[in-house]
Amino acid sequence: MTAHRQSDTDACPGALRLHAAADGLLARVRLPGGLLTGAQLGSLGELAEQFGDGRLELTSRANLQLRALQEGDTARLADRLRAAGLLPSPTHDAVRNIAAPPLAAARLRALVEELDAAIRADPELAGLPGKFLFAIGQVPLAADVAAIPDGPRFGLRFGGHDTGLRVDAGRVTEALIVSAHAFLAEREAQRGGRAAAWRLRELADGPARVSARAAAALRLTPVSVPVATPAEVVDPGALVGVVTDNDQAAAGALVPLGRLESAQIRVLAEAERLVVTPWRGVLVPGLTGSAAAAWIERLAAAGLVVTPTSRWTGVTACAGRPGCARSLGDVRADAEAASRFVEGLPAHWVGCARACGSPAGDHVRIEATGEGYAVTRRSGDGRPAGEAVPHGEAGPGVAPAGDPGPRRDEAAGPRSAKRRDEAAGPRPAKRRDEDGPSSARQRDEADDPGAVRGPGRAGTFPVDVLGDVVAGARRA
Ligand code: SF4
Repeated sequence: MTAHRQSDTDACPGALRLHAAADGLLARVRLPGGLLTGAQLGSLGELAEQFGDGRLELTSRANLQLRALQEGDTARLADRLRAAGLLPSPTHDAVRNIAAPPLAAARLRALVEELDAAIRADPELAGLPGKFLFAIGQVPLAADVAAIPDGPRFGLRFGGHDTGLRVDAGRVTEALIVSAHAFLAEREAQRGGRAAAWRLRELADGPARVSARAAAALRLTPVSVPVATPAEVVDPGALVGVVTDNDQAAAGALVPLGRLESAQIRVLAEAERLVVTPWRGVLVPGLTGSAAAAWIERLAAAGLVVTPTSRWTGVTACAGRPGCARSLGDVRADAEAASRFVEGLPAHWVGCARACGSPAGDHVRIEATGEGYAVTRRSGDGRPAGEAVPHGEAGPGVAPAGDPGPRRDEAAGPRSAKRRDEAAGPRPAKRRDEDGPSSARQRDEADDPGAVRGPGRAGTFPVDVLGDVVAGARRA
């Protein structure tokens, strides 16, 4: 289905176009391929301490964000980012969106740098939307245009679809640049007075039409492939602990809920090179096995997650309260209270239906509603997926939530779910099962095939039972 935007305003934040969040301004620093040096991370850490809240936030696209910035500091922040090599182009800052595998081989990393330079050298591509994503190599993200190694050549993908276009390594950058131009041309052709599309998937028949334009410009004839083959979903794998790939060892750690604290930044800043991953993790690459083991000890001592059986494995969250004014809950604190180790689908906690930062593949969404949390299984495009989890899998005694009790940022009282329950006393639960869905939202939930259900109906759940509910949904 083709969706049309209501507005042309591209508010995707960058280092120069800051987003006004509830906790201050937010700056996003693009890291093509997730790559940066330890020195650059150290510079970002200093900027976060001087101008922000002292922390760095890892995004689902392997970028870094500074939060709680003040208006009067933005010019000095930009100067410092430029000096650190993290703002190489004022015109193209928001469009340097290039994903690559975290442990990409040297030839792919070289292509990332080549593509980044080519994007910055192309004035027309400054008009790409800030959401438009390039990829080189297989990544767990929904790229608009991608080049995936296919034997000695590269296969081009458009919105995740293999349309049969193949190029040699020497033409990868050219092919991706041409494909981005093809996207801009096609979206203009389809615009018809409406707001412009941001993503290739928003265009009618986008993969086929953009591919056809690119093929004509590149003089390529498609090879035979299964019609509109979607790209395979990449298993996030375990980039945790000592990992080896492409003849290199690396030390991998997860950053709990994607926020690097200043002490952790200082440790990582001593590395020569770093890779930020889309799983809110960080790698110290290019090590010997023994050096990687030594790094793991240091990362663990700094409070980062270095074991794959941590309760944080596969758990992510949006900003939530108090950072985002839209949020209907303190999702990070609630995720902290309810998360446990589960082998299964990733779990993503969100403060509202916008579901920022959702994983690209199948996952469980835990969404604050203001009346507890709705738990649904989602496919990579964010739509509900699969059958409802039987109530028994959600654990005994699970019922839809009524009043979730005082929120943490509204009450200075107990912080844990259990203590909050004790303080709040019995809850006057709403009986939605008797009244039926009373709002459009609840009616939607009742029809949601991915919803994890209470006893015989869709519902929301209070934090104190979410550990069981989410674990059941992730395992199923
Ligand atoms: S999902 Fe909603 S609450 Fe979370 S960051 Fe996005 S807009 Fe804010």
